[in-house]
Amino acid sequence: MPLMISWLESANVADCPFPLNNLPYGVFSTDKFSPRCGVAIGDVIFDIQAAEAAGLMTFSSVAVFDAPSWNSFMALGRQAWASLRAKLITILAQNYDDQAAISEFLVPLDGATLHMPFKVSEYTDFYAGRNHAVNIGTMFRGAENALPPNWLHIPIGYNGRASSVVVSGTAVRRPWGQIKAPTDDKPRFAPSQRFDIELEMGAIVGVASDRPITVQEADANIFGYVLLNDWSARDIQAWEYQPLGPFQAKAAATTISPWIVTAAALEAFRCDTPKREFELLDHLKDCGPMLYDIELAVSLTPEGGAVNTISATNYNQMYYSAAQQLAHHTTSGCPMNVGDLLGSGTISGTEKSQYGSLIEMSWGGKQPLTLSSGETRSFIQDGDTLTLSGAAKGDGYIVGFGLCTGKLLPALADPYKR
Ligand code: CA
Repeated sequence: MPLMISWLESANVADCPFPLNNLPYGVFSTDKFSPRCGVAIGDVIFDIQAAEAAGLMTFSSVAVFDAPSWNSFMALGRQAWASLRAKLITILAQNYDDQAAISEFLVPLDGATLHMPFKVSEYTDFYAGRNHAVNIGTMFRGAENALPPNWLHIPIGYNGRASSVVVSGTAVRRPWGQIKAPTDDKPRFAPSQRFDIELEMGAIVGVASDRPITVQEADANIFGYVLLNDWSARDIQAWEYQPLGPFQAKAAATTISPWIVTAAALEAFRCDTPKREFELLDHLKDCGPMLYDIELAVSLTPEGGAVNTISATNYNQMYYSAAQQLAHHTTSGCPMNVGDLLGSGTISGTEKSQYGSLIEMSWGGKQPLTLSSGETRSFIQDGDTLTLSGAAKGDGYIVGFGLCTGKLLPALADPYKR
């Protein structure tokens, strides 16, 4: 698909993350405006709350943009999703005849503060990247047992915490937890010394369900995607994770990028899941291209230092699509709600330069990375800023996600010491 030309010149520049093809949904505020829903286009935000209040954007008999979240709009369903996108494309495309009326609702992106774009109902994290699972499994259990026997048959996941999902730019505090290294004779309570990132994509459920749904239905129920950093305390995880999976290691924070890139905007970038080693059971079978070709990168910036790109990979590396994860999630009859967030699992390519976590890049701390300053890193140090970025590359345009960034603050004093 070629670039769709807008009357907003800034949207037509080849490396602009927000061309007319994209139209991602977020929540913003400025000195003048309280937090509200907006749509990014070029270097501005279309204030859809004000446009709805002015009678320009009506998709329901009641206002859906009168709260600073996209949940109410998502809940209107697929027909409304398509109507809004069509309407936005009409009013922002070149030759639209009443540009002055639309201009009234445009706010510069530069200077706007971005907030959580939706209320996370519940958060589930999966483990669906094969390269990552093999790498972590090798480190935790040895090469013989790297991939658990169920891995090639079901997308493994655990129920995470919605309460600690934060928007890009929010600082993250190094957590305390119970730690026991294999060489320690007993556990101790201490700040995590092996604090890490996980490069993931988050899929947002936009249609509720209360029964087992097919992969095809699941694909249609996904509203859009964000970048997701599943911050992970590896030392806490290694001690606590058997037999029920990670718990406090993942509970401190999960950061998402501020713009929801809709499934509709990504349609042109669909690609196939990989060839299957074992045939999947019918309810998880692939039924068309349900992954997306999205280039991803990770950078690490020490306090006051230079930006170091430490990884570059692609969402097309996943073994299971978000649609398969969502379908699997419903097999028990588990209800899914508007605003449920599904983490893909860490996205690692096959090479060291393509790994999606520091524990893989430094191979458990045995091979520290060297930064441009000459400093080394096995895990994140206090003051480091970790940033995920992502974009689908079209013909002369990109569909960008904005950044998913967070700075690590030092651990607080012992929370139990009086
Ligand atoms: Ca994860």
